[in-house]
Parts: sequence; structure tokens; C-alpha cells
Amino acid sequence: MKRPRTIFISLLTGSALCALALFFSGEWVLGLLWAFATHMLLLYATLKPSSQWLGPVVTSFQTEKQEVWLTIDDGPDPEETPAVLDLLDRHQAKASFFMVGQQVKAHPDLARLILERGHNIGNHTMNHLEGRFWSLFRGRIEVEINDCSAIIKEVTGVRPQLFRAPVGHKPWPLDKVLQKLKLPLIGWTARGFDGVSKNSDQIVRRIQTHIAPGAIILLHEGRGTLPDTLDKILLGLSDEAYRCVLPSPESFVCGRRKTIR
Ligand SMILES: [Zn+2]
Repeated sequence: MKRPRTIFISLLTGSALCALALFFSGEWVLGLLWAFATHMLLLYATLKPSSQWLGPVVTSFQTEKQEVWLTIDDGPDPEETPAVLDLLDRHQAKASFFMVGQQVKAHPDLARLILERGHNIGNHTMNHLEGRFWSLFRGRIEVEINDCSAIIKEVTGVRPQLFRAPVGHKPWPLDKVLQKLKLPLIGWTARGFDGVSKNSDQIVRRIQTHIAPGAIILLHEGRGTLPDTLDKILLGLSDEAYRCVLPSPESFVCGRRKTIR
């Protein structure tokens, strides 16, 4: 079975050739409109975090139990990580921390502490180039991912087995790089836009509307809201008898079907 990426790229190439044919046959207005539409499709696939068109993105995991996967991005953070770890312990919850290489370099003790407390670590690139990650070429993407894995390995002794892209963007070559490095791209099911909102009640409400068995919850460190938000989320989850677990790669689901990697 062909992968969605292959089908999408074939359609896109065909569409671009159609645009060129129209342009050179004198129908240049139609050709330009067609080319614009083609570019918009590619941009949508790149910027829409859950789109599977440019490669598989894990958006949930398979479980029969009341279980969710808590994921925390952008740390470690000296102001928030210690409080977050205490909260997780108090609720007997496990989480995956998608770390930025520069943060690991600046706070190696916190990176080690996260692992010591039973959580796991994912790669979230070396520099978190959120404004331009979507437009990077293959060489730079590889450097961003490899440098982050290298510093995490150096500091903790563990090489991360998960990857999350800054802001969930997927530049064209990212899938090939991740295949080579054998890293699954982890997306999410529920987010509260805590990167932009400071209102923890609003963040929690947004997340709670998407909670279901197998949901991936996305949260961020370093915004000043995480301990308060996390406390409310964990209380809400325990009221509904949900457990926060670290799912195995075999249970990962991409879009509406199982991963084909
Ligand atoms: Zn991030």
C-alpha cells in the first residue's frame, strides 16, 4: 500500500505540471491560479500539525483503558520543572518531556532529574526555530535534530526515541530525516494553547473537551502557567479515573489508522 506522502507528492507534482501546461498554452491566468492552489495545499500539509499528507504523525494511542499520554514541551525550565515533577509524583502520573537542546545544555541537572523520577524524554530540536522550522532544508533539519539528541545523550546517557516538531510544523524533507533516524513524529490530540493564553481555566477547559482514552495532551513549560494548569488537569483526570501513562510505540496511532512505519 502506498504511503499518503507518496500519493500526495505525486498529486502535487501532477498538479504543478498542469499549472505549467496551462501557463504555456496561453491560459496564463488559469495557470497562475492553479499554481497558487497547489502551493496552498503544500502549505496546509506543512503547517497543519495533524495532517498526514507529508508523513505519519502520531495523534493518539490505542488503549482499552482510561489512559492518556501527558506530553510537556520546551523545557527543562528552572522555574517550573521542579514543581511539575512534584505534582506528577503526587498524582502518580508519568509524562514525556520534549526538550529543547539549548535548555538541556543550560539545565543538565533538571534533564537528569526528569529521567530519575521515571518520566521519559523526547527530542524537540536544538534551537526550537519556531518561526522558520517549516521552511528549513534537509541538512539544517538533520543538524537541529542530531544536535538535540547528542546533548540529551551526553547529559542523561539516554538517546531520545521520540520527536516533536516545533509548533508541530512539518517541512517537506522532515519525514525522510525521521525515517533515517528512526524517530516517530509525535503530535497531539488535546491542546489548550498555553503557548499564547495565560488563563489556566480556559486552557484546562480547551484540553478537557478532547480527553478520551488514548488522547495525547500537549502542555508547555516556561510560560508561567504550567504548575497551575497541570494541577487542574491532573485533578480533573483523577475525578474521571484516568491514568497518565507512557504508551509503547506499538500502540501509536497516526490519524485514524495505525502507524505504517
Ligand atoms: Zn515547542
